[in-house]
Parts: sequence; C-alpha cells; structure tokens
Amino acid sequence: MRSNVTAVASPLDARCNHESDADAAALSGAVLDALPSPTVLLNPDGKVLLTNSAWEAAVETADDDRIDGGAGVDYFAMARRACGKAVGEKIEDSLRALSRGERASFAMDYSLQHPTGTHWYHLQASRVDQVGQVVVTHTDVTDRVHAERTSAWQAWHDDLTELPNRAALHRLIDAELRRPDRPPITVLFLDVDGFKDINDSLGHEAGDDVLRQLAARLAERTRAEDTVGRLGGDEFVVVCRGCDTADAEALAHRFQSIFDEPFHVGGRTAGLTASIGVATVGSGDPSDIRSTDLVHDADLAMYAAKRAGRSRICVFSSGLRDAVQQKVLVAGELREAIETDQLVLHYQPILHLPTGQVDGVEALVRWQHPERGLLSPGDFIAVAEEYELIDPLTNWVLGAATLQAAEWARLGLPLTLAVNVSAATLATGALVDDVAGALAASGLPPDRLIVELTETTVAEDPARAAAQFAALRITGVEVAIDDFGSGFSSLGQLGNIPAGVLKIDRGLVAGAGDRGNQSAAVIAAVVALARAFGMRALAEGVETVEQLTLTAALGCTFAQGYYIARPMPADELQRWLQERAAIGDRDRRASAAVRLSSTAH
Ligand code: C2E
Ligand code: MG
Ligand code: MG
Repeated sequence: MRSNVTAVASPLDARCNHESDADAAALSGAVLDALPSPTVLLNPDGKVLLTNSAWEAAVETADDDRIDGGAGVDYFAMARRACGKAVGEKIEDSLRALSRGERASFAMDYSLQHPTGTHWYHLQASRVDQVGQVVVTHTDVTDRVHAERTSAWQAWHDDLTELPNRAALHRLIDAELRRPDRPPITVLFLDVDGFKDINDSLGHEAGDDVLRQLAARLAERTRAEDTVGRLGGDEFVVVCRGCDTADAEALAHRFQSIFDEPFHVGGRTAGLTASIGVATVGSGDPSDIRSTDLVHDADLAMYAAKRAGRSRICVFSSGLRDAVQQKVLVAGELREAIETDQLVLHYQPILHLPTGQVDGVEALVRWQHPERGLLSPGDFIAVAEEYELIDPLTNWVLGAATLQAAEWARLGLPLTLAVNVSAATLATGALVDDVAGALAASGLPPDRLIVELTETTVAEDPARAAAQFAALRITGVEVAIDDFGSGFSSLGQLGNIPAGVLKIDRGLVAGAGDRGNQSAAVIAAVVALARAFGMRALAEGVETVEQLTLTAALGCTFAQGYYIARPMPADELQRWLQERAAIGDRDRRASAAVRLSSTAH
C-alpha cells in the first residue's frame, strides 16, 4: 500500500535525518511489501503508519466493516472491534508494552469470524526503533489450526464409530479417579458374543456397520453424565459416574436390552447378544488405583460372564482376580509338566456289548503334580485351552497313547484307542496333521484310533467339525461325538456330521434303569437317531448292572463306566485284561441281556 507511505508522517523519523525522510519511508514500504503476510507499522499509540500490499489485499478480500485498511487508523480500536474486547485489550496492552521496550517480542493466535467461517491468524509483533514503533504481521494459519484440531480429535477418537478411543477413556477415567471428592466410578466392559461370526459370514464391511449401529445405540442409552467409548474390535466401555455396583448392574441390564432389537446389515437382520463385565471403585477405595486396573478388572469380569454363556453380566470380585492369578500359575506349571513328562495316561476299558469283549480303551490324561498329587483333567484342561497349551498337550497325549496302543498290539492285545481332543485343537486346524504324525511315529494302524470331540465342540462350529471329521475319516481314523446329550445341540444337525460313534452322556445314562424315569425313552430315541445316521451308540458312565443291561437292551453297541472298570494306568490295564480273560467275564449277565437285544449291531 505504497500510497499510504507518503500520506503519513515519517515513520522512522527518530532514525533518519530530514533529507532522507522520503527515502527512508520508501525503503520501509518496500521492506514491508516484501513480507508475504499482511503487515502494518504502528506508532506507540497504535496508529497505523504503514501497511503492505498483502494487508491491503486481505482487507479488500475480507470486505469486513470491522477492519479498516487505511493509514492513520486506530489499530487498537480495530482489534477490539474485530476480535472482541478481551482479545483486543490483550493485543493493545501487549503492543504498548512492546513499544515501551518492556518486552522483546509478542506473538499470539487469534480467530476472526468471517461469513465463510472462522479464520485463525498468527500475530507476530516486533519493536523496530527507539521511538517505539512496532511492526505487526498477521499470518492466516486456519489450515494449520484445522489440521492440528483434526489430528487432536483423531488422537482421542475412534475412526470407525467416532466415540472416544482407548487413550481417551483411560485419560478420562484417570482424571475421575484423581478427583479429591470423587464419587464411585463404574466401568462396564461390553463385548459382543460371537462377533467373529458376523465378520466371517457377512464380511468385514458388514461387521463395521454393526459396530457403528451398536455405537449409536450405546450412545443413545448412555446418561449425560456418563461416557461411552470403544476400546477396539467389538469391545466397548461405558464409564459411569456416581454409580455403585447395584446401580451399575441395573445399567448393564439396560445396555443388554439394546440387543433385543436385531441389527440390520446388508439387507439382512442379525440377532446379537453381549457379555458385560462390571467393575466399581467406591469413593472410599484406595486412591492409588489406576484406570488400567479398573478396566482390567471389568475385562476379567466380562470374561467370566462369557464363560458362563452368552448374554451374561458379571460383577468383578477380588476372588475373580485371585482365580486368574491361580490360573496363570497353573498354566506356567503345566507348560513345564508337558515338557518334563509329568502327564500320565489312564485307560478306561470299553465293552463291546454284542460280544461282551473289551476291544477298546479311552485314554484319559492326568497330571502327576509334584506337590498336589494326581490331578484329573477337570483341574487343568480349561487352563490349557485358555493359555494356548492345548496343542502341546494334545500332541503329547496322541504321541504317548498311540505308542502304548501299538505296544499292546505287539503284545497280542489289539485294542482300539480313543483319544479326546478339545475345541481349541479343532480351531487350530492342525488336528489332521497331528493325528497323522502320531500314527506314523507309533506305527499304530489308523483304524485302531478314534478321535473324540464333545457335542458342544461340534455345535460351536458344525461346518468346521464336519470338514475335519471327513478329513480324518478319509485317512481311516474313526471319529466319535462325546458327551452327547450334555449340550443342547440340535439333533437334526447330527446328520451333517460324519462321525461313526455317538457317546451318550452319563447324565442320560444315570437315570436309565430307575423306574418311571424318562431316560430310557431318550436313550432309545438317541440310539435310533444314531443308527439313522450310520453311527454306533456308546453308553457312557455305566455304574450299575441295571444300566448296563438296559443300555444294551436299548441297542447301544458299546458301554463304558465304573461298573465295567475305572480308568487305570497302562500296566494295571494289562493285568486287568489278563485276569478278566482268566476268570471269565463278570459281565456275562449283561451279555445275556445283550443277546436279548437283537437290535445292537
Ligand atoms: P470324557 O471324555 O467324557 O471321559 C469320561 C469321563 O468320565 C472320565 O473323567 C471318566 O473317568 C469319567 N467316568 C467314566 N466312567 C464313569 C462312571 O461310571 N461314572 C462317573 N461318574 N464318571 C465316569 P475324567 O478322566 O475326569 O475326564 C473328564 C473329561 O476330561 C473327559 O470326559 C474329557 O472330556 C476330558 N479329557 C480327558 N482326557 C483328555 C485329554 O487327553 N484331552 C482332552 N482335550 N480332554 C481330555
Ligand atoms: Mg471322551
Ligand atoms: Mg464323555
């Protein structure tokens, strides 16, 4: 704005002699013009002495009554008009102080409301001479501020749902926990049951869509004083202020009702449920508790809820933490036990009812613990499954049991060997290879091996079970469905599962033989169903002669249970079989019953 240069009194008169005033002013104008940002030169009272071209252009573009571009204008009054009283006064005070030499420089960011939206400027001022003239530049930093705000927003929010993210939740909970007068704080940890199935069956985009819908529903149900956020995956957290455990449980039930309505994805509807863990810090609880502890406790409770079944709520207790610590300890010991051969196998005879002969055994693992004695599988299989020890355990069992069965075959005892495999092993997909490896190493023929999987394992993922069963049977290995009748899988599903043996759970067998009990009718139905699908039925947990007689009469092909024999170590089994052969079969009575049953095959 060179025209202004001549319109005002010499700006640099303290420094320049009179002859060179015009030259100095021209030089000042040229210097200001070289600056890309809108710039003004002010006298100590805030009067505009000089402006540059960028300033002039900016004033013209802004077309804003509050901003006057001309020389001689009161810059301080303009600042108050444009930026508001508080900011304007701050600018005036700071520039006056700068002019008096009380400070070396002054910089601040301020915003201006334009019809197009808010613009941000960086004001930078320096004193240019002894008189106290001040040069002020104004750089438009709107893009930078937007970028900073976006990245700050992103740092604390989840991209998918726009809810507060893990970092934001922890920051918020920590801040709440540090408040001196803090009310009770509860964390609800919510995890969708079987969310993986949604992703697997409908695709990841559908999964993302469900998570967005769920986030919206959760946000809708969250009270104004509470906060909902997403930790990641299908895990959400609700932070509730002033909630004791009872309130929080009621709240958890309210969140569960979110799932009453199905979710709509890709033109389909999907029914979902969630497991919720609840953890509370009371106002009187220790002050050193951190957010990570509280969320971890809620997470533990959520896992306990999950283990109890779908759609459950579990409230954290210190017992839960102790149980986890205990499990971690057991897992460590078990890892060592597998490596140092502390595991042992017991074998339970299986009676072939039509012949009355024991022609097979089931291998059942035990742990000879150095301090706790002989532990049964119920004490450690679940830990093995949870802590990724089930593969080494299954391989150990497969290896040891097939070697033992091959050894018996060499001794003239050709027994069929049944080995239990858990869901976690089926999930790894390594089962077929592991079985083949054990058979190759031991030399046991494949048709001597039966792999047992429980009904619940099969029901968890029938398609996967069917595929692996089929692959096993192609190699000649038989497959049995264990504990049938203990879960609630659909009977109709059985037809799609290529298994050869159906083991009827001892819960059903226990009632058989009691007068008026329905179990006999159920067993008869299960046997008929097994037959229809080409399977042979085995009665588990036979404890009395009545049960043995009845299950044989109902058409079971095999029986197993304490009445016949308890599980026993390999050498004991050998003696038991020899004694049995020598003294005759004490179950002849049962065999007589079997002969009555023309239906067994
Ligand atoms: P399961 O495969 O159904 O094995 C039968 C269980 O019932 C055995 O318990 C056996 O001792 C018990 N039992 C047999 N006859 C009777 C009876 O007449 N009455 C009663 N009350 N019980 C009887 P155990 O050895 O404690 O095994 C429990 C479960 O642990 C097994 O159930 C099986 O699911 C699992 N398991 C055992 N060994 C292994 C293994 O090597 N790997 C895996 N993954 N699981 C195993
Ligand atoms: Mg079994
Ligand atoms: Mg069983």
